[in-house]
Amino acid sequence: MNTIIDLEEDYCAHNYRPLPVVLVHGEGVYLWDDEGQNYLDMMSAYSAVSHGHAHPRLVKTLIEQAQRLAVVSRAYYTDKLPKFLERICLLTNQDRALPMNTGAEAVETAIKAARKWAYKVKAVENDKAEIIICAGNFHGRTIAIIGFSSEAQYRDGFGPFPAGFKSIPFGDASALEAAITPNTAAFLVEPIQGEAGIIVPPDGYLAECAEICNKHNVLLICDEVQTGLGRTGEFLACQHDDVQPDGLILGKALGGGLLPISMFLARDDVMDVFNPGDHGSTFGGNPLAAAVAFEAISVLGEEKLPERSKELGAYFMEKLRSLDTPFIKDIRGRGLFIGMEIDPTKATARAVCEELLRNSILSKETHDTVVRFAPPLIITKEELDWAFERIKNVFETMERMNSAA
Ligand SMILES: *Cc1c(COP(=O)(O)O)cnc(C)c1O
Repeated sequence: MNTIIDLEEDYCAHNYRPLPVVLVHGEGVYLWDDEGQNYLDMMSAYSAVSHGHAHPRLVKTLIEQAQRLAVVSRAYYTDKLPKFLERICLLTNQDRALPMNTGAEAVETAIKAARKWAYKVKAVENDKAEIIICAGNFHGRTIAIIGFSSEAQYRDGFGPFPAGFKSIPFGDASALEAAITPNTAAFLVEPIQGEAGIIVPPDGYLAECAEICNKHNVLLICDEVQTGLGRTGEFLACQHDDVQPDGLILGKALGGGLLPISMFLARDDVMDVFNPGDHGSTFGGNPLAAAVAFEAISVLGEEKLPERSKELGAYFMEKLRSLDTPFIKDIRGRGLFIGMEIDPTKATARAVCEELLRNSILSKETHDTVVRFAPPLIITKEELDWAFERIKNVFETMERMNSAA
């Protein structure tokens, strides 16, 4: 038995079930375990490590800023936050940003903004504001957020939950229009559902939703914590549909794979509902995170990570589709955000991930049936070719094991 694993099992809450590997080092698209074995990272910490592990420029920025000034709270101005906010607002075409730390906090911020906007701007009667969300959503793990999750396990034992959320099927714009009432503040949606299993909606879905929201004076808030910052082959996944959301949520890769930073961005008339003291976070907007995030979005542009994602994602998806095996039911995604649906009568996604691990590829199942491939966006074509051969080998091995059984 591995004593490190035992120690974590003894002292850590059992809220995850990690694959049995102890990682000690990471560089670019590779990770190393405590026995010196290396792996290709095709998970990227749920897309938080789009820049790759220990990106030299980002590590340099982190170290230099940590030595200069790291955390002072927003009781004061710092020299790093404004320039970063200006840059990210320009890049996303939003007026203002409210910096937080984790994705869930930024989603909570969006919900607060939408509700207050409904009361102060749209003149909805107090405490009547509704927010429409989609079945299969994943927006984080706070009480309010899991309260509108359709995943029974996420909710079980954690009630009571806040009211004011209405669920509709994902990918159905007419369901959105039917659900809107005069009290509707916002529609909160992932442009591609990530944790649900990389679910890509029909073409034009988001554009249709934007039109409906506009018509009914409802805010369209896109949660791009996972799909944003190049992951799907555009800087933002909204851009596939030419949609400019009223509110936008970023996180994960914003920290360049080094630290947590998230934000809610919006138009002035939405963000202006916040007055001093209304909302905040001790670590939100700290100069260390702001400096790293500024560099992270610069690197994203200079290394053309969205373009790489688009090109290499299409290339890799086509290769995966050529795999002739009864284990795979579907391959879907956009850019390097790819889900592989496993036939549950043949194997669990977990079993495939364990076999991938034995073949030096790190991935992670989402739900019981989907294996995700979301490597750092700096990955090369050669590395993807290598990964493909290993993946092919995994299914050949599993077919042999199945026919032997
Ligand atoms: C991961 C994720 C979140 C939550 O982010 P945390 O940093 O884990 O709180 C929110 N929304 C989406 C779409 C995500 O994928």
